[in-house]
Amino acid sequence: MVQDDGAPAWPKKWWVVRFVSEPFLTREEWRAYLNALPARYTRKELEALRPPVKCEICGGAPSPENPLQAAHRIPFAKGIQHLALTPRFLNSPDNLRWAHSRVCNQAFELKRLDLVVKHLQTEGIMRLPRFLPTEVLRARDSLVSGNGVARARTASGPRRDGAARRRG
Ligand SMILES: [Zn+2]
Repeated sequence: MVQDDGAPAWPKKWWVVRFVSEPFLTREEWRAYLNALPARYTRKELEALRPPVKCEICGGAPSPENPLQAAHRIPFAKGIQHLALTPRFLNSPDNLRWAHSRVCNQAFELKRLDLVVKHLQTEGIMRLPRFLPTEVLRARDSLVSGNGVARARTASGPRRDGAARRRG
């Protein structure tokens, strides 16, 4: 876009979008989203992958009283606010299903922090950003077992050092 006097209205796009395969926001991005959540285009994104034909939770057909919604496994707002997950990760196909707005949508959602952290681990995401609140990091630590960290937890000595090194 060029103005009448020949000067460009805005510089050309000079930034690089960072979210492509990265599940977590940077601390600065996270802080910004705590002030205002990003817009979500969940339905549009899922529709682009497959049309809403039947409920992917119960297999039933939609009805006017119980239409299909694009449902998140890891809730969108909580995933950003408590776990600093990127909007792109939260709207990725693995995290979305068509679900009846009544019951099935709720049934699909992981409602507790520990369930979400466990789910992330099954996806191979073992580390959480260090800037997250202690409660969140603790939920993650309490799930780590069988690799020495859980054993260290039962000892009275400090375990934060070992856990912190492990998270790197
Ligand atoms: Zn259903």
